Amino acid sequence: MVEKMVPAVFIDRDGTLIEHVPYLDDLKRIKLIPKAALALKKMKELGYLLVVVTNQSGVARGYFEEDFVQKSHRFIQRELEKEGASIDAFYYCPHHPEATIGRYRRQCRCRKPFPDMVLNAVEDFSIDLKRSWIIGDNEPDFLLAENTGCPFILVRTGYGAEFEQERRCSSVKVVNGLYEAACYIERVHGIE
Ligand SMILES: [Mg+2]
Ligand SMILES: [Zn+2]
Repeated sequence: MVEKMVPAVFIDRDGTLIEHVPYLDDLKRIKLIPKAALALKKMKELGYLLVVVTNQSGVARGYFEEDFVQKSHRFIQRELEKEGASIDAFYYCPHHPEATIGRYRRQCRCRKPFPDMVLNAVEDFSIDLKRSWIIGDNEPDFLLAENTGCPFILVRTGYGAEFEQERRCSSVKVVNGLYEAACYIERVHGIE
């Protein structure tokens, strides 16, 4: 039997799903982006698998442990569940080529904009990449979309507004935040 392939929305974490805090290392500083739960519910209703893909080089730099990253993802999940939403899977890259912690020092293929977090999720969940989207606030997300062939939506939260200015992203869809990104996907989804 052929497994049915599902489309996914790959969502950046810092600055897109939660407020941007550089090298976030305290659960108390985790704050969902306004209307994030509503956005996720909307995308879920449209049939998308929701996958977070996040670079966490703070691990490689010795700012926090991998365990903390997992703990923060459980925290985010609980916060979302309070509002009836949830993420289907979290993928993170703990590496950095100039890591201070030896076992994380590597030129990996999962650190965005490299595609391996997305490709692993595709493998794990039978995701149809051709019908999937990437939402993020910064250049690695934008380039990840190029490297995986997915359409990209830039949010103005986090570094997004700055990135929009710098790049003058004329060919990229830019919206105010995650909720507006979900509304855009809903519109395009309806046209297809
Ligand atoms: Mg980000
Ligand atoms: Zn990596």
